[in-house]
Amino acid sequence: KLHNTILELKGNIRVFCRVRPVLPDDVAGSEPDVISYPTSTEALGRGIDGQKYPFNFDKVFNHDASQQEVFVEISQLVQSALDGYKVCIFAYGQTGSGKTYTMMGRPEAPDQKGLIPRSLEQIFQTSQSLIAQGWKYKMQASMLEIYNETISIEEISSLLRQAAQSRSVGKTQMNEQSSRSHFVFTLRISGVNEGTEQQVQGVLNLIDLAGSERLSRSGATGDRLKETQAINRSLSSLSDVIFALAKKEDHVPFRNSKLTYLLQPCLGGDSKTLMFVNISPDPASVGESLCSLRFAARVN
Ligand code: ADP
Ligand code: MG
Repeated sequence: KLHNTILELKGNIRVFCRVRPVLPDDVAGSEPDVISYPTSTEALGRGIDGQKYPFNFDKVFNHDASQQEVFVEISQLVQSALDGYKVCIFAYGQTGSGKTYTMMGRPEAPDQKGLIPRSLEQIFQTSQSLIAQGWKYKMQASMLEIYNETISIEEISSLLRQAAQSRSVGKTQMNEQSSRSHFVFTLRISGVNEGTEQQVQGVLNLIDLAGSERLSRSGATGDRLKETQAINRSLSSLSDVIFALAKKEDHVPFRNSKLTYLLQPCLGGDSKTLMFVNISPDPASVGESLCSLRFAARVN
């Protein structure tokens, strides 16, 4: 126990559900609720048959939960990367459900900053007080994109300095990403205490997954088909991996996608995983929302 931030987890995998507010472009009309949330851990999804299907999560954030309220619930998890834990936080959901808002937010509006800038600020601040206690840290941030199972990588050297100044972090890179790729932000932290000779090696991964929407029956072809198949394959292999880890199975199929292969060192063991399932309340998304809830319930 280094900094008294050890988490009490129900296992090392948690799932949070977040429902975004209704937006002006959503389909207005008399359709019943796509999702309702009777308690802070329960969500009711609506089937196309009109039935309500109940799901339980570690936490359900309703449409008016602020970025700060969401961050409060993950700040300990973020902090544990400074204690040497390997942490992965995913945002899963169809395009338009609020994944990028959750992860990145609108960095230019301080109250709407998402988890990435808030996490960096917190880590930076906490490390300052630990430095005063004899710790030294080396931090390395990188972002990468996985598109059609190929990886591109970018190092960001001035990132922490920027975070300290509360400036937007990688905003252009993040917000302009297409919803057809997985976006992985990684912060590697190595700390050494010169007095006690303790060492820590923590990693914080914040992942904005590609849109989970299914292929429409009307039949995509060519590149679009290939793209969608690659996304579906990697999202289902992520689900398989988390499921196998949660069930403590002997064989965990990390090698079935680039995403799980890349994150393998940070999944399983004593690492910590949190998945946000982002839900759109738009009646036009009713089928996708139920699919997302089912996906998340499988890994919960
Ligand atoms: P995704 O990344 O899943 O495609 P976005 O994060 O881009 O979805 O969200 C779609 C739209 O909804 C954006 O305009 C975003 O600003 C808005 N939005 C999403 N979640 C919220 C929220 N909790 N509060 C306010 N606006 C939100
Ligand atoms: Mg997005």
